[in-house]
Amino acid sequence: MAKRIIVIGSGAAGMTAASAARKQSADAEITLFTEDEHIAYSPCAIPYVIEGKIPDFESIVMHTPQFYKEKRNIEVRTMTKVTSLDVDKKTLTTSDGQAHTFDSIVLATGGTVFMPPVEGVKLKGVLPVRSISDGKAIRSMMADTRSAVIAGAGVIGLEMALALKHAGKQVTVVEMFPQVIPRIMDKDMADLLQEHIASLGVEFVMSAPITAIKGKERVEAVVAGGKEYPCQMVIMATGVRANLELPNMIGLDVGALGAVRVSATLQPYRKGRLVKDVYLAGDVIQCESALAPGPTMSQLGSSAVRQGDVAGTNAAGGYATYPGVASAWVSHLGDVQAAGTGLSKGLAEYYGIRTVEGIGKGLTKARYYPGGKKIVVKVLADAATHRLIGAQIVSGEDATGRINWLTAAMLKGVSAEEFGNAFENAYCPPTSMVKDVVNVAVEDLLTKL
Ligand SMILES: Cc1cc2nc3c(=O)[nH]c(=O)nc-3n(C[C@H](O)[C@H](O)[C@H](O)COP(=O)(O)OP(=O)(O)OC[C@H]3O[C@@H](n4cnc5c(N)ncnc54)[C@H](O)[C@@H]3O)c2cc1C
Repeated sequence: MAKRIIVIGSGAAGMTAASAARKQSADAEITLFTEDEHIAYSPCAIPYVIEGKIPDFESIVMHTPQFYKEKRNIEVRTMTKVTSLDVDKKTLTTSDGQAHTFDSIVLATGGTVFMPPVEGVKLKGVLPVRSISDGKAIRSMMADTRSAVIAGAGVIGLEMALALKHAGKQVTVVEMFPQVIPRIMDKDMADLLQEHIASLGVEFVMSAPITAIKGKERVEAVVAGGKEYPCQMVIMATGVRANLELPNMIGLDVGALGAVRVSATLQPYRKGRLVKDVYLAGDVIQCESALAPGPTMSQLGSSAVRQGDVAGTNAAGGYATYPGVASAWVSHLGDVQAAGTGLSKGLAEYYGIRTVEGIGKGLTKARYYPGGKKIVVKVLADAATHRLIGAQIVSGEDATGRINWLTAAMLKGVSAEEFGNAFENAYCPPTSMVKDVVNVAVEDLLTKL
């Protein structure tokens, strides 16, 4: 009899898991349930629709349920919440009252935006940003919004701030920490970025946790750091928490970071024992860091896709493992690209690792070639082992290739000395200086080790 596989969730992790299961097994019966109306889209594109660079939300939807049925023989049921789950009896029920059985299951239930428990958080105009429905709600309120407050200066907060600024709104970013991108970027690099975004007209209020949101029906002001900031819209970019509704229902072990603990095969544990035929992927899990001895939350679309592949393959009877992650990221913010990989100084300290850092400053093209943009690269090494464990870039262009280059080295456990002596880079005047700024940063690091 064909294996019955159920996938819950239509985000990057769930859609990939269903497709990977199909690749692994031609005859499995694959059904995907999602409470969303839309499937197979990248939330990463939401800021660009808000800004108007992408004309509408329909454009960011890659495939329809019909596509999955016709091309991959996967049954996708939208607007169907899984309301109860029993992984011992291998049964579940959905919001339409139907019961279903399965042989294996993938939980790709993602995350939800953390809404700080402050007065006024339920007022009209206080909006999370996570899904197309959230994006549509934001866009429908933009017409009568002059000023918006963005709560949280992480990457998503900054992307939303610039999107609304480009759409003609007055924008204030309110952040409880003294720097932007507080968890994964060091302050010196984050300050360069903040300076650039501020130069585009976005206001910043730093070290100021939001204490209240004021208004009668709709939001009228945000209170932070003892001051009021008038606004008609508040975008909550206050971090993502793993969606633990179903994992808690079936008693899965939750790790120190508040997400489901999984093995390398992406199977969960219950009271310390591996649970058979159940796999998880995406923002709902914590995984192992490739650069520190401990768990990490990747919370990236790129990681969700790779995890979905592993979970779907295993659910269909194959064997795949998910290695430790560096969580390389990149964002395009105004005229600047910011990127990072591995550990920031703060994260390294959290794991008890002492770091040494090198900085390189220069241009993205040869000095004499027209149009070169400023680039700053920072690399971090473990002071004890000299292993490269983190890097950050703020650059006018081409941050992605450089951060991927550094990520590949870090994932292979390369030391600063090895990188300096043995790592090549391609060169021509329109694409880099003959000694790329990445190498300049590593040379600076070597002088300090
Ligand atoms: C604005 C924004 C910009 C971003 N930019 C980037 C970027 O540039 N690069 C990057 O790598 N990452 C980016 N991310 C992060 C990335 O989008 C997420 O890490 C990724 O989408 C997580 O995918 P997921 O499948 O784990 O979860 P989700 O996309 O949250 O999907 C979870 C799914 O589970 C479903 N679900 C949950 N519970 C149930 C239930 N009981 N029954 C049925 N269905 C259920 C939901 O309906 C949903 O379909 C961004 C995120 C946002 C919001």
